[in-house]
Amino acid sequence: MSGSTTDSVGRVGERSGRGGLARLPSVERVLTAPAAAPLIDTYGRTRVLEAIRQTLTAWRDAAVLTHASSLDEVPDEVPDEAAVASMAKTWLEKESASRLRPVFNLTGTVLHTNLGRALLPEAAVRELVEAMTQAVNLEFNLSTGKRGDRDDVVAELLCELTGAQAATVVNNNAAAVLLMLSGLAARKDVVVSRGELVEIGGSFRIPDIMRSAGARLREVGTTNRTHRSDYEAAIDSRTALLMKVHCSNYAISGFTKAVELPELSALAHSHGLPAVVDLGSGTLADLAQWGLPHEPTVREAIEAGADLVTFSGDKLLGGPQAGLIVGRGDLVAKLKKHPLKRALRAGKLTLAALEAVLRLYRAPEFLPEKLTTLRLLTRPVSAIQTCAERVAPAFRLAAGEVFAVTVEPMQSQIGSGALPVDRLPSYGLVVRRAGGKRGGRALMLLEERLRSWPRPVIGRIADDALRLDLRCLEAADEAAFVRQCVEMT
Ligand SMILES: *Cc1c(COP(=O)(O)O)cnc(C)c1O
Repeated sequence: MSGSTTDSVGRVGERSGRGGLARLPSVERVLTAPAAAPLIDTYGRTRVLEAIRQTLTAWRDAAVLTHASSLDEVPDEVPDEAAVASMAKTWLEKESASRLRPVFNLTGTVLHTNLGRALLPEAAVRELVEAMTQAVNLEFNLSTGKRGDRDDVVAELLCELTGAQAATVVNNNAAAVLLMLSGLAARKDVVVSRGELVEIGGSFRIPDIMRSAGARLREVGTTNRTHRSDYEAAIDSRTALLMKVHCSNYAISGFTKAVELPELSALAHSHGLPAVVDLGSGTLADLAQWGLPHEPTVREAIEAGADLVTFSGDKLLGGPQAGLIVGRGDLVAKLKKHPLKRALRAGKLTLAALEAVLRLYRAPEFLPEKLTTLRLLTRPVSAIQTCAERVAPAFRLAAGEVFAVTVEPMQSQIGSGALPVDRLPSYGLVVRRAGGKRGGRALMLLEERLRSWPRPVIGRIADDALRLDLRCLEAADEAAFVRQCVEMT
């Protein structure tokens, strides 16, 4: 590259060629140098070759850039084989690092969709490892020796826990809604209140799903008020379903009226139609028993007359990403025969983890300890406060003197659309510019720096302060967090 660089006189390129750049070791020489041997053992020859090429190109480009304005000052010092190998090692380490990395979720949102939602309990992890590394009877009936049904892994448990007749599992709740609508309402009408046409983050919108399923959305009522008579007037020969969607990420308050499920399902049944509910988060146990706000349970929906209920596996349920459909046997059977069920079915890892999590619900008294999501949601505020006081000194040093770090009360939220307006009292670290200065750009740079740590720290900036809610920093993570702060100081 440098050999072809010429100035107006046409001699500088030649000089630089003879000078610095030409003395760079060749790819082959680096590859056969002793320093490259351990790299080849670890990463393989193909990767190391690529790393050396990339390293040499990057070095040459940088040298040309640096000397572009004064071309006769070519670099005299070029890296030798060992130095290039060492640079290649850095490149290889960076390139081999996993893209999916553990982070510290200090956002204050326990079920954070962008951070992977629910953390699996220990019991589920054990089942997962087995299902990953050993053959399992996923679709094999051990008593008959014949082909089985993968839903059988969890269907019985789901029925037991919800009071439903039947259950099936797909990839996520969006898939569950899609399957339900495709299977029961293709080319027909689905009546939904205008107050429930929700959009969930990540582009899940009821009207769009409806269209993808080939169903016609029949909106009734207004944003804030929908009456029984609105639904009734919309029912005709084209109607397939009456549907309720849980308002998972907003609340309509003030002058409002919604038709509750018992009334809606009675109306549907009087017209021979099914009433279906997209419960969103849904939960299998009443959270109020642990002092949390009440979130509608799946059993309540079934008891209120819902013919099918769909909900997520990785929201309040605390399990793996999955979409669950429970309800009437004949309707579930119909969905299981639909070709989309095959396309959307859950994998064995999901089913293994889900089974383990559902089993925990059989002993609700142990849930706050064993179900990670519930443990985080019910963590005593005093425990979060002492945790904040313990980690503050190390974090203060890592943040640096330009920042003031204080331990303050804050409010966590459940997230993923569960109980959007309820807040849980929590504690955390609040970082402001020292000396009462505006945080502004310095704060943004700090936030960026924390994101670049080996295990990135994810907080949130609000009111000119960086807030790190420590609700999700449990014991083992606390130690890791402090260690990292010390290393980053
Ligand atoms: C979260 C949610 C969904 C989407 O569920 P996923 O499991 O993320 O696919 C659908 N409907 C409602 C009401 C929700 O809250």
